[in-house]
Amino acid sequence: MRADGGDDTNPAVEEADPVAERAGIESGGLTDLMAQLSALQNENSKLQEDIETTKSIIASVKPPPEETAEEETDPAMAGIEAFFNQPQQKPREPIGPGELLSPPNEAAIKWPEPNENPPFWERPPIRMPENLDPKTCEITTKPLHVVHVTAEMAPVAKVGGLGDVVTGLARAHLCQGHNVEVCIPYYSSLEGKVEDVKHVMDFDVPKGEQWEWDGEKEIRMSDFQWSMYSGKIGSCPIIALRPAFREGSNLFVGQRIYGGSYNETEAYLSFCRASLECLRVTGRDPNVLHVHEWQCSAVAMLYWDVYHAQGLLNNAKVMLTIHNMDNTGECREEEFMATGVPGSEFNTLEKAMDERTIGHNPERLCLMKGAIVYSNYVTTVSPTYAREALNGSAGFLGKTLTKERTKFSGVINGVDTEIWDARLDNFLPANFKPGTMEGKALCKKYLQMGLGMNVDPHKPLVVCVSRLVPQKGINLIEHAIPRTKEKGGQFVLLGSGHSDPPFQRLAESVYKNDKDVKLLIFYSDALSHLLYAAADCVLVPSMFEPCGLTQMIAMCYGALPIVRKTGGLADTVHDVDDPSMSDSKKNGFVFEGADNNSLEGALDRAIRYYHERKPWWKGMQEQVMDIDNSWERAGEEYVQLYRMVTGIREDNDHY
Ligand code: ADP
Repeated sequence: MRADGGDDTNPAVEEADPVAERAGIESGGLTDLMAQLSALQNENSKLQEDIETTKSIIASVKPPPEETAEEETDPAMAGIEAFFNQPQQKPREPIGPGELLSPPNEAAIKWPEPNENPPFWERPPIRMPENLDPKTCEITTKPLHVVHVTAEMAPVAKVGGLGDVVTGLARAHLCQGHNVEVCIPYYSSLEGKVEDVKHVMDFDVPKGEQWEWDGEKEIRMSDFQWSMYSGKIGSCPIIALRPAFREGSNLFVGQRIYGGSYNETEAYLSFCRASLECLRVTGRDPNVLHVHEWQCSAVAMLYWDVYHAQGLLNNAKVMLTIHNMDNTGECREEEFMATGVPGSEFNTLEKAMDERTIGHNPERLCLMKGAIVYSNYVTTVSPTYAREALNGSAGFLGKTLTKERTKFSGVINGVDTEIWDARLDNFLPANFKPGTMEGKALCKKYLQMGLGMNVDPHKPLVVCVSRLVPQKGINLIEHAIPRTKEKGGQFVLLGSGHSDPPFQRLAESVYKNDKDVKLLIFYSDALSHLLYAAADCVLVPSMFEPCGLTQMIAMCYGALPIVRKTGGLADTVHDVDDPSMSDSKKNGFVFEGADNNSLEGALDRAIRYYHERKPWWKGMQEQVMDIDNSWERAGEEYVQLYRMVTGIREDNDHY
């Protein structure tokens, strides 16, 4: 099909039938013949032009044919898949300091329609952060070699904040001149999305299986071959590991990062062992092994008791970052055999035994507890969440953390300002910055038009971008939707997760044709950028929140956060009416209780101020955009911790 909806076949091509033309030539004299020849040449060059024009139109409106052939099977991933099926984006033209990528220009915007296919937010291809911009950071005199071991990495292997944090932190340290590598599973869903990907080597990794029959344990050991790939994600070097024989293993196979049809505990345990083995066989001996979450916790345990104990890796100190204590990695002894080491080695009270299972037959391991015990330092992602954990909210893990409290603290996450930047974000139809905010109004109009909402600049737009799981305050989100509408606002939810069926039902019934409410129950990185840019407020009513990035991302785009006072939300959002806060620190609307009334206290206030205090609102938007939530600060805190555990100081450090 042509861009104008006609058929690909150019009618002019059909008219130029060579047989008929030849017949015409034979019937005339020499002059006729010359004239016909010249006419033919003209026709031919016009035809060539037409063909080229048609080709370029087709290329600009649809991806190359071989890329469209791929089937879309998972609607939640369809948005992401669509991005990668589009032609790669050209590198961004250099933009002068302070300039906007797309200055506000209403006439230049290609305004979207509600039922575009593919949807309007998928127009620009995904942009990896391009630069490691060392403009403001100090280059280190004593670079550290840091290897992160993680299950997620933004933007291509991201489910939630863990992915954002790993990429942001790694990039901040690369900017300072540290040698950083990120080791992740090479999920089948990652294929085609890693820059400069190269197969490096295959190597054997020990693995065991354990049976118990009639009180007798039987262990069988074998080797499992893994493949190592190198490449880059967002300018950051990665080590991607996967079983060598894709056909022979379904580990990390699936359309999403999590939830494939394999035992996730065993898969990550085997990955942990493979990561250490990969360091050993490639001769890497980093200064810091930075492991994240329960999935990679076994690295800390195996590093000390297997690799370091046998002199196989000598240099590293281990840092664990806990992003969420909701899932701590419960593990049966026989599952631990996936590491090639019997779980019984670690299943003691002082090491990794899950205290809740004492007296059970059998007692189980808690991988996160093991990593807390074995790591040289443990961080979690905000000081308040760290305090809450020590004060009982972490359940039995609180006991372990209290015991290890001298090596435990909270470091508030940063935001990768290369990815989340209202000034340069190419997912937006118009960019903006404090002082030049017209683009934000255009983003709101663009979103309202694209989603088929009432196009009204005066209706406050409340947005929620969230995993839909109980932690995120599902009931409060559900209540905020009609309440916002009742107060004259608009609400857009972008969410996915295991609590999404009720929202899906609401989207398809009550709010199906609502012009002020849109419930979008899927994952889309691109759409999330547009939502933050369009929003007047971003709602984060979490029951608990280790750090929370959405409230900080919201601020980068001049949206005021409405949050429940818990964990990192309490550390980063300060109520505009809090008399104990200096004016420069006030940046949002905060409520404490977990009930609808408490939520209304903050939500109603936000909507009222939006309507009644226009100049004040505008000032607040610009004020929150100026808050420095970048990784520079948090990255520096991590470097200080790395230096403390390794003893490797900067040349000019005298402490
Ligand atoms: P958590 O890690 O608990 O999910 P955070 O607030 O720390 O919460 O990080 C959430 C990250 O995931 C943010 O970058 C947010 O924009 C993104 N996100 C969450 N849900 C979606 C979704 N449905 N589509 C796109 N991005 C999402």
